[in-house]
Amino acid sequence: MWLWILAFFSIITPSQNNTKDEIQSPPALSMSLNEKINLSVKSPAVNYYYKLNTKGIELYASPSDWKIGRKESMIYFDESDLYNKIYYSLTINKVIDLYSQKGEQKFNPEKFGNIIIEPEPFKLNPTSKPLKGLRVALDPGHFAGNAIEALDEMRIARIVLPDKSVAEVFEAELTFTTALFIKDTLEKLGATVLLTREKHGWTAFDKSYNDWIKDDLTDAVINDLRDGYISQTIANKLLISSDKRYIYQAFFQRYELHQRAVKINNFRPHFTLIIHYNADSENRRWDARGNQYPTKSNYNMTFVPGAYIAGEMQYKEQRLNFARILLSNQIERSIELSYFVGTRLSQKLNVPNYPENGSQLYMHKVANYTGFDGVYARNLALTRMINGPLCYGETLYQDNVDEIQKLANKTIEINGIKTSERVREVALGYFDGIMAYVNYKKEL
Ligand SMILES: [Zn+2]
Repeated sequence: MWLWILAFFSIITPSQNNTKDEIQSPPALSMSLNEKINLSVKSPAVNYYYKLNTKGIELYASPSDWKIGRKESMIYFDESDLYNKIYYSLTINKVIDLYSQKGEQKFNPEKFGNIIIEPEPFKLNPTSKPLKGLRVALDPGHFAGNAIEALDEMRIARIVLPDKSVAEVFEAELTFTTALFIKDTLEKLGATVLLTREKHGWTAFDKSYNDWIKDDLTDAVINDLRDGYISQTIANKLLISSDKRYIYQAFFQRYELHQRAVKINNFRPHFTLIIHYNADSENRRWDARGNQYPTKSNYNMTFVPGAYIAGEMQYKEQRLNFARILLSNQIERSIELSYFVGTRLSQKLNVPNYPENGSQLYMHKVANYTGFDGVYARNLALTRMINGPLCYGETLYQDNVDEIQKLANKTIEINGIKTSERVREVALGYFDGIMAYVNYKKEL
């Protein structure tokens, strides 16, 4: 009897069809509004920007407006479908305009008849191109093309090895070569793949950071000043500064992430992978030359939308994305994708997933555990602004004593860029996760 039940269960549990291992599939997730709120709100301060009533979500521009009940906008439960379609069809800036005009009125569906774009469904097809019709966006994190630029964006690991030599890698190159491997493999199977930056050393603006500063900084600062994202004082400082690290921190980092989200949303992918390599934030030992001593810790983690903290409901964009996350199935679909990708990465790399009560202090402050191994809700610019299922991967610790040696050992090449076997293994982990997810869903 029990054997029969087990046999039956193995037929209806998709993961057991396509993996020889013990990894279980998550159930097709469906979460209640309250469960989504629990994952989406990390800090109580967030609760002073919205209220729920029986008809929908009221949004407030500030806690003082919340206290006196002066609503900025109201998004009704029975218009959430339309709200999601509008979001899918229009640019973020247009949605912000519509949201601003909306107030407490309902969207009029007739007004959107011609502009709504319906998604092209994908169906796994049993041919030599099983992924034909699948659209995947890949976002390789950061932008440096060399060690100097990596210093501008403070994404370089220089690690003292046990034999006192120093190994060096920079994250933008690791993520970019990883994305190239994934893109190659997916395209061979028929998928259409977007890279948010197409060349090594390019930003999401299709040029290097240095060229962007030369060509575009002035206009960008003036536009953002007009839109209220920066103050006059900061704008003045940026316009006279030649300090690339300051320009990156005070402006470019946020500004470029927005561009990545715009590119991805315009591409309308079936899902998005955001690719990063992690470091141990508790590892704070450096030698006299500023090189870092290695850590013994090593974990993978993945992020999905949610976990807003204090200060993250300040802008309209943040509030309307908050409502979208609650009124769509973005969290559920992202958890499914991230679960598959995270478990396969962990298996392929032999690196454990970050545990719920791990020792990284920032994780306790910014992340909510989803209940699925290694998958956390976190309000990063890209988990918030990208429309559609996503997996934000933070894979292994670059400053781990073994990892740094593997990553710095560049014995292979992709598109003329030297890289390591370890990077290819990371790419294979992502690829396995994607295939397991697509096999599980069959249709997207
Ligand atoms: Zn990163």
